[in-house]
Amino acid sequence: MRIGVHGLVFTGVFDEAGVRTAVEGASAAGFDLLELPLMDPETFDGKAAKKILDDSHLSVTASLGLQADTDISSTDPRAVSAGRSVLLKCLDHLVDMGGTDLCGVIYSAMRKYDAPASPEGISNSQGVISEIAEEAAARGISVSLEVVNRYETNVANTARAGLGYLSGVTSDNAALHLDTYHMNIEESDMWQPVLDAGSQLGYVHIGESHRGYLGTGSVDFANFFRALARINYDGPVVFESFSSAVVSAELSNTLGIWRNLWEDSADLANHAYRFITDTRAAIETIRLH
Ligand code: MN
Repeated sequence: MRIGVHGLVFTGVFDEAGVRTAVEGASAAGFDLLELPLMDPETFDGKAAKKILDDSHLSVTASLGLQADTDISSTDPRAVSAGRSVLLKCLDHLVDMGGTDLCGVIYSAMRKYDAPASPEGISNSQGVISEIAEEAAARGISVSLEVVNRYETNVANTARAGLGYLSGVTSDNAALHLDTYHMNIEESDMWQPVLDAGSQLGYVHIGESHRGYLGTGSVDFANFFRALARINYDGPVVFESFSSAVVSAELSNTLGIWRNLWEDSADLANHAYRFITDTRAAIETIRLH
C-alpha cells in the first residue's frame, strides 16, 4: 500500500518551485506518494514535474475538481465537451509525470449546486467518464471518482450513490475514491461504505473532520482503517489537509479554507505519516486476536 500526501500540505502553487517544495516535503516526512492537484491544467508542466520527481523515490497521482464551464454533468454540450478536453489534458500530464492515478471530483463540477443533478446530466457524465477511463487504461492510469459532501457536488454524496453512478459507467477502469472528511459528513458510519465499495474502492483520502491534524476531530479512523483491512484494500491512502497558512487561489476558496488549523507543514506531515502507519500497524495485529 502506498501512503501519500496531498501537495497542498506544502504549497498552494504548482509551478516548478512549488512542485519541488511539495516533493521535498513529502519525501522528508516519509511518504511514498505525492498527489498533485491539477486545478490549472492549462499551465501545469508535467515534464518539468517529472524531472523533479525523478530525484525522489515518490510515485505521483493527480486530482482535480471540474468547474462550472467544464462540468461534464451539465446538460450544456459545450461544458461537457470542455470537461472532456480538460480530463484528457490531465491524462497527458499524468503520462508526462509517469503518474498512476487520476482522482477527485472529475464527474461533476466541485461546487455547491442549487438544484439536484438531472438524469440527462448524469448520463452525460457517465458517458465522458466511460471514455476517459478507457483512454486512461490504455495509458496505464487508474481512474477513481471522489465521493464528496452535498456542498461540493450533487451527483454522489455517499459510497452507495457512487456505486450507483459507477453502474452506468461502461469501463471497468473507473473506481470509487472515498474521503474520510466527506464520509464523516454524509455516511452513517465509517465501516459499511468501505465494505459496500469492496473491490471497487480505488483511492482513499484521509482527512480530519475540520481538515486539520489527524486525531483532533470527530472522524472515527479506527473503524475506517479496520474496514480497509477487512476488504484487503491495497490502493493509495493519501493524507489531505488544508489551512489558510498555505493558500491556493482556486482550491482554498472552493473548499472554504478560511482559518488556520496549522502553520507548520513539516510537523503536520510528519504527524500524519506516523498516525496512518501506526494505526495500520496496530490494526494488523487484530488478526492475532
Ligand atoms: Mn478529498
